[in-house]
Amino acid sequence: MTPQTKGKDSGRLAGRTALITGAASGIGRATAILFAREGARVFAADLNDAGLDRTAAETTRLGAMGDALRLDVTRERDWEEAVRRVLKASGQLDVLVANAGISFAKPVVEMTAEEWRGVMAVNLDGVFLGAKHAARAMQDGRGGNIVIVSSASAIKVGAGASAYCASKAAVRWLAKCLALELGPAIRVNTVLPGGVKTPMWGTMDFWKAMIAQHGSEEKAWEFLGQSSPMKRMAAPEVVAEAIVYLASDQASFLTGTEIVIDGGYTA
Ligand code: NAD
Repeated sequence: MTPQTKGKDSGRLAGRTALITGAASGIGRATAILFAREGARVFAADLNDAGLDRTAAETTRLGAMGDALRLDVTRERDWEEAVRRVLKASGQLDVLVANAGISFAKPVVEMTAEEWRGVMAVNLDGVFLGAKHAARAMQDGRGGNIVIVSSASAIKVGAGASAYCASKAAVRWLAKCLALELGPAIRVNTVLPGGVKTPMWGTMDFWKAMIAQHGSEEKAWEFLGQSSPMKRMAAPEVVAEAIVYLASDQASFLTGTEIVIDGGYTA
């Protein structure tokens, strides 16, 4: 048994310490749980305290002796403190999953500069800051691995979603630049999910109308899923699987690249 994990000395991520942002909900929560199952020591980070506690309780139950970290990805001080706490507790940081993100839809002509900057602050600046501080810790240690959660919106855009699409395209290219700067010690890759059934949809105004129109959230998801050849949306666990793969040694020759998990939506 390693000091990092209790009864978890096997699995694709055994002995690794991971910091996962946006871990209170959706894809981040599913990733934290799968990382724990795969033997990682998981530090779940988010600004949603209640959700964070639920995720940390589950990862702890699975034996991943990490912690819950309150982190606003837009604040550099929060990142400094989070990485400091991970290193203090674990002595190393092996994996950053930069997953936290927000959705936003409004036509450009109606959008305020503040709204635009708010999306960029979380979806782009938050990834930059995380990569910067995680990479510094990884360079001082034994190297590592960064997985960034972008979106199929970085390939195929939607009307009214300019800020979101631009932010997701930006992190896709940021990841490629990071791969050049940080290799060979640190690999950097991106996942581009299509429609995933998570609470993020509930943050968008049009979603309430869609649920009313289709009768339930599940029916509204069924409707949205029709836009891909697979005719359905994904569960967050499907994205978590791809993130685990990229973070594991199975993907040891992958850097500066991406996995599109969209049921063929962008094909
Ligand atoms: P979600 O809303 O379920 O989870 C996002 C999490 O990020 C929440 O727990 C939220 O509290 C956290 N968060 C938001 N702002 C933060 C901040 N400033 N600091 C720290 N945490 C913050 O959404 P999700 O669908 O799981 O989204 C996860 C990622 O996947 C996002 O980057 C999103 O853009 C991306 N994505 C989602 C879909 C989808 O269909 N759900 C598709 C493509 C990409």
